[in-house]
Amino acid sequence: MGINIAIDGPAGAGKSTIAKRIARKLGYIYVDTGAMYRAMALYLIREKILPSETEKINEKCREADISIGYENGEQIVYLNGENVNGLIRTEEVGNMASASSPNPNVRRKLVELQQKLAADQNVVMDGRDIGTCVLPDAQVKVYLTADSRVRAERRYKELEERGVQCSLDEIEKDIIERDHQDMTRDISPLMQAEDAVLVDSSHMTIEEAADAVIALLDR
Ligand code: C5P
Repeated sequence: MGINIAIDGPAGAGKSTIAKRIARKLGYIYVDTGAMYRAMALYLIREKILPSETEKINEKCREADISIGYENGEQIVYLNGENVNGLIRTEEVGNMASASSPNPNVRRKLVELQQKLAADQNVVMDGRDIGTCVLPDAQVKVYLTADSRVRAERRYKELEERGVQCSLDEIEKDIIERDHQDMTRDISPLMQAEDAVLVDSSHMTIEEAADAVIALLDR
């Protein structure tokens, strides 16, 4: 049995940055579950399915094989054998991921993969339902959040650094809409697990937030 750290929270709260930092410090494996939902979304986009076509999503998701590998400590997501890491970090894919993630077939497939990864190794896993569904017995559970404007500003900076033109207001609107979808869906909605510790990173550095989570291991 490995040690499991579960980090859930809304879009742009800093989950992946903080989880990566924790994994590096502790020598754990970082599992980015959002990337798996994004790879599935990319498949659906390529199949020309719209976020509103729930029936088609239900059918088509069966054809997508999602798997995970590691190169130099970095998680690689494979979609039917193709490394799609460079293709999944767009707003279009993020929005499709949010629209398709309520599908029970999508979730069953990806949750199984996530549980396998955590079964026999030390992992820091981030997502929306890790503490509530995927790893209910995780030793540490954190609900990481931040003010929506702060989250929008972070995502804006990230996109700007990659040379993507965008509007801060549009990003904040997208984030609020995506959180609403993730929090109000029937299956595995985003919520704080009863035994999760709330960490608000609005006024914290990455280092401070990572240390706050690591400190929970010694409770
Ligand atoms: O975290 P990220 O923005 O990459 O996630 C994209 C979308 O995937 C989320 O908006 C959410 O709908 C879905 N997701 C999920 N469960 C997870 C991780 C992500 O439903 N564990």
